[in-house]
Amino acid sequence: MENNLYLAWSPDATIQGMGSSGGAVTALLRCALENQMVDAVLAVKKRNNSRFDAVPTLITDPELVHETAGAMHFAPLNMVKIIKEYLDGAMDMRVAVTCKPCDARAFIELAKRNQVRRENLFLVGLNCSGTYLPTVAEQMIREAFGENPQDLAGEEVDEGKLIITLKDGSTKEKDLEELVRQGYEMRENCLRCSYKVPRMADIACGKWGNNGKSATFIEICSPKGHEFLDAAAQNGALVMEPATNEQIEKRKQKETEAVENAQAREKQEIEAFKRYSSEERLKYWLGHLSRCIKCFGCRDACPICFCKECYLEPYRGCIPGGETPPDIMFQLIRLSHVADSCVNCGQCQDACPMEIPLTRLYSVLNSELADIFDYKPGVDIDQPPPLTTVTEQELSIDAPDIIGENSSDR
Ligand code: SF4
Ligand code: SF4
Ligand code: SF4
Repeated sequence: MENNLYLAWSPDATIQGMGSSGGAVTALLRCALENQMVDAVLAVKKRNNSRFDAVPTLITDPELVHETAGAMHFAPLNMVKIIKEYLDGAMDMRVAVTCKPCDARAFIELAKRNQVRRENLFLVGLNCSGTYLPTVAEQMIREAFGENPQDLAGEEVDEGKLIITLKDGSTKEKDLEELVRQGYEMRENCLRCSYKVPRMADIACGKWGNNGKSATFIEICSPKGHEFLDAAAQNGALVMEPATNEQIEKRKQKETEAVENAQAREKQEIEAFKRYSSEERLKYWLGHLSRCIKCFGCRDACPICFCKECYLEPYRGCIPGGETPPDIMFQLIRLSHVADSCVNCGQCQDACPMEIPLTRLYSVLNSELADIFDYKPGVDIDQPPPLTTVTEQELSIDAPDIIGENSSDR
């Protein structure tokens, strides 16, 4: 294949009917497993057929891949953490994993630190216009759309609207800004996220540019992407045709609009901060951080946090055990460990029971560091991270006890 931009769909009518974009991703993953190009597929599966509850699912049987068909905007899972924590960074296993752009960026950051084996990962990137917390989404469907959340069959964000499809095939749409006025906003990190097409993955898949055709617009972003798609086309698992100029233009237009909106939001946030003095900003953050109950949720959810021997644990001697709120060093240490590599995935903020706007803090700092070091986390695997704050000892699972007792005060 010489081209990088294709429309693709499954020739199998059953697979085609499972997703809204011709079932290309499902067909591709199935083909990769059938031909032993990967050992497993990690993808997202609805729990109890709910669009508000999902489970990451590791699949080795090609017959079961269809269970993960279809996009989900109301259950933003942490795929990176699963690979890192439960699959040993894919060190000994070849895994195809579906990922949002923030997930793909986190994989790149971890690969730079030898925490995942990039060669063993086939990153199937999914374009992303933003996600909602399941609780917010469920209430929004019930109250703003006036529908039973259990009747939801699909949803998409397009051209400033949230469009839902119900099980009877009917659709309803609402203006995103109107939903915000009613109190239904996307996850805060998504509003400022300008990575809508995951070009750091092996392929980037989505609906933009399919112009109403039941097909997935695929951009091939790496030699591995070519290899997998070639195999799928040759095996008859996928029908592929080069995208037309009109389709390419449409996709570009939609991506540009979405990125410009996100950049405007980010600029607005940063300018709002700059209107205050350093003392006022410090007071603002100390006010938020004083509510911290040291549950470690933010650290445990962060895909970039990977030390085996964490400085935040009381036995390391930096943060006294048993005190809430913890010493301010708790947050400062975390900030210094992820400042250069935070990918704005929002998992820390989602996990925080005290609703502290953590990603706002990381993103303001990250954007300043990005300007200073000319470094964008998770984009270029060949660009080394600018700051190194983690020692070999922290990376070691067998590091000796610093104080003598490997205990936590959680
Ligand atoms: S941060 Fe970006 S890539 Fe991640 S879920 Fe939000 S919009 Fe999607
Ligand atoms: S600090 Fe928060 S937003 Fe940044 S990578 Fe970690 S979990 Fe994601
Ligand atoms: S998740 Fe929130 S409450 Fe828990 S340790 Fe992190 S900042 Fe504190």
